[in-house]
Amino acid sequence: MNLKSFIRDIPDFPSKGIIFKDITPLLKDPAAMKLAMDALLDLVGNQKIDKVVGMESRGFFFGPLLALNLNAGFVPVRKPDKLPAEKISVIYDLEYGTDTLEIHKDAIQKGDKVLIHDDVLATGGTAKATCELVERLGGEIVQCNFLMVLDFLNGEEKLRAYEIRTLIHY
Ligand code: IMP
Repeated sequence: MNLKSFIRDIPDFPSKGIIFKDITPLLKDPAAMKLAMDALLDLVGNQKIDKVVGMESRGFFFGPLLALNLNAGFVPVRKPDKLPAEKISVIYDLEYGTDTLEIHKDAIQKGDKVLIHDDVLATGGTAKATCELVERLGGEIVQCNFLMVLDFLNGEEKLRAYEIRTLIHY
């Protein structure tokens, strides 16, 4: 089974000129989901993980599954004004303008071993900002893993300080 065959291109979404990689065909197929989840777990190997941190919103599909299988907790990183308790924020650059991500202050304990997970690594801005939030709370990033990476956007360059592992390359 080839995971790439469960990812479809949607042209001009969310805006003109962008080819969006849509993973909903993968999500609705239990065998493909299991294959992807097991492969993501293989990327981590037997490294100890205390928390899996997933970014809103597509990091929430596999993040909690990985956490359960790693016997770790799951921590959501969310867009502004979604988290209810005390939180910290990071503002990061987009191609045009900026965006903000937030995490609860009590989500990470000092010294926690953290796996960052998202569906796509594109420019790396989202993952870099998430790493910053985790490190500000004292977490140690063990690995950042992704279902897929868009190699032509050079996201890995921004994340040179971290171990980056990905299942599928485009
Ligand atoms: P980056 O910050 O440019 O690396 O973008 C990564 C974020 O944008 C991730 O949270 C992804 O979910 C989302 N993203 C970017 N491109 C795509 C895509 O083609 N399909 C699905 N999500 C995408």
